[in-house]
Amino acid sequence: MEYVYGRLFIDGEWVTPASDRVIDVISAHSEQQIGQVPAGTPDDIDAAVTAARNAFEDPAGWAHWTAPQRAVILNRFADEIESRRDEFARRVSLQNGMPITIARRTEAAAPAALLRYYAELITQHSTEERRPSLLSGTTVVRREPIGVVAAIVPWNFPQCLTFFKLAPALAAGCAVVVKPAPETVLDAFLVAEAAAAAGLPAGILNIVTGGGEVGAHLVTHPGVDKVAFTGSTAAGKAIAEQCARLMRPATLELGGKSAGIILEDFDLSRATQALFGATLLNQGQTCYLSTRIFAPHNRYDEVVDAFTALAANLPIGDPLDRSTVIGPLATRRQRDTVESYIAKGVAEGGRITTGGGRPAGLPHGWYVEPTIFADVDNSATIAQEEIFGPVLSIIRYRDIDDAITQANDSAYGLGGTVWTADADRGLEVARRIHSGSVGINGFALDHGAPFGGVKNSGIGRELGPEGLAAYQQLKSIYLPA
Ligand code: NAD
Repeated sequence: MEYVYGRLFIDGEWVTPASDRVIDVISAHSEQQIGQVPAGTPDDIDAAVTAARNAFEDPAGWAHWTAPQRAVILNRFADEIESRRDEFARRVSLQNGMPITIARRTEAAAPAALLRYYAELITQHSTEERRPSLLSGTTVVRREPIGVVAAIVPWNFPQCLTFFKLAPALAAGCAVVVKPAPETVLDAFLVAEAAAAAGLPAGILNIVTGGGEVGAHLVTHPGVDKVAFTGSTAAGKAIAEQCARLMRPATLELGGKSAGIILEDFDLSRATQALFGATLLNQGQTCYLSTRIFAPHNRYDEVVDAFTALAANLPIGDPLDRSTVIGPLATRRQRDTVESYIAKGVAEGGRITTGGGRPAGLPHGWYVEPTIFADVDNSATIAQEEIFGPVLSIIRYRDIDDAITQANDSAYGLGGTVWTADADRGLEVARRIHSGSVGINGFALDHGAPFGGVKNSGIGRELGPEGLAAYQQLKSIYLPA
C-alpha cells in the first residue's frame, strides 16, 4: 500500500486516534486499495474542537495577532503547499479519478493562491473603522474573527473546497477543524504536513477523518461557532436544521443543475474547450456545471450534433495519463447513481446520441461514457435532478423569454452559462438567470468574486472579500462625544 497514516493531526501534533478503526482508500481507476488512514470518531472531534477552542481563546494567540503577522504564516503555508504541488495533484487524481492535468490546474494550484490572496487582503484592510455616530460621538465598527469553524468538504474537488473555507477562516483569525470526505483523505494529511512545516500555531488547524456521523457530531458540537459545508443538498438541509436550532451561522454550498443557454448567434465550433469546461469537467462531478443545455429550436439539431461530437471524442482512461480528459467516477456508488439516471432518462423518452454505457477496453475503474440526451423536456427527471456525472440534456427553446423561463424552472441556482457572439446581450440574459453565478462563453470561476447558490444550491457565499466577511463577526462600540 502506497499511503499509510496511523495518527490524526490535532493540536499541532500527530496524535493516536481514539479508536483503532480505519478508512481504506480505494483508487477510482484500479479499484485497488492505495491507502489506509485512521477513521476519526466523535471522541477525536471532541479533542480537535477543544484544541481549536483553546487556541482561539488564547489572549496572545492567532486571533489576536496582527494581520501582517498572520500573513507571514499564511504565505509560508502557501510555500509549503507549493513544494508539495505534484503530490497533491497525484493523490487527488489517484483517489477520485480526476484527470491529472485538471488536478494540477485546480487542486494543486488553488490552495496556495487562495492563502496568498487572503494574506494580501487582510493586510490591505483594517478590521476597525471609525464612523461619526448618527446621534453624537463616534462609533467603532470592528470585524472580529467568528471563532471556531467546522469545515466539512466533499470528494469532488477536495483541496479547492477545503481552501475556499480554510484560507479566509485562517486569515480572519479563526481556528478550524476540517472534516474531509472519507473518499479523499490522503490529500488532507498532506495539508496537515504543510501546516506543521509552515509553523501554524498548535490547535489553529485540526483535521479529523470520518463520514457523515462524524461530520454531524462536529456540526452540533458546543465548541463550534460557525459551520462551513460543501456537499449534497440533502446533507446541507440536515445541517441547516441543526444550525438553526443552535443559532449557529452556516455557509452551505450545495448541489446544482445549471442551465447553459446557447443563443442563436453562437458559433459552437470555436468553443470546444470552453464548452467542455462548463459542462463535463471532472466527469461531470463539478457542482456548477451547465448540465441542461438550452438550444434554439431552429438550430436544435446542430447543437445536438456539436455536443455529440464533443462528448464522443473526449479521451477516456487512466487519470494519471496526461492525455486523459475523462477519468472514472469517484466511487462505485456514484457510478451506480449515474447509471440509474441514464436508465431513467431513456425510460422517460430521452434519446441518447452518444455514450450511455461503460467504455470498452477499461475492465476496471468506475467509468461511464460521456452521454448526451436529446429530445429532453425540462420537466424530465434527468433535467431536474442533479446527476453528478457526465450526462447532459439538450432542451429546445422557442425564444429567449422561453429559454430564461425554462432555465429558471429548477429547484437549484448555482451556476449557469450563456453562449453568444454578443457579450452585451449575454450579460443581459445573465442578469435574468436566477442563480449565484453565470459565465459568458465559458465558466471561469473567479476566486476574487463571491461564489454560492440560491434556492436548493445553498446559503451564503465563499471567495472574494465576501468570503472573508463570512468568518468575521461585526461589533459596534459607541464612543461618547
Ligand atoms: P455529501 O453531502 O454526502 O458529503 C459531503 C461531506 O459532508 C462529506 O465530508 C460527508 O462525510 C459529510 N456529511 C454527510 N452528511 C453529513 C451530515 N449530516 N452532517 C455533517 N456532515 C455530513 O456529498 P457528496 O456526495 O460527498 O458530494 C457531492 C455533492 O456536493 C453534490 O451534490 C455536489 O453538487 C455538491 N457540491 C457542491 C459544491 C458547491 O460549491 N455548491 C461544490 C462541490 C460539490
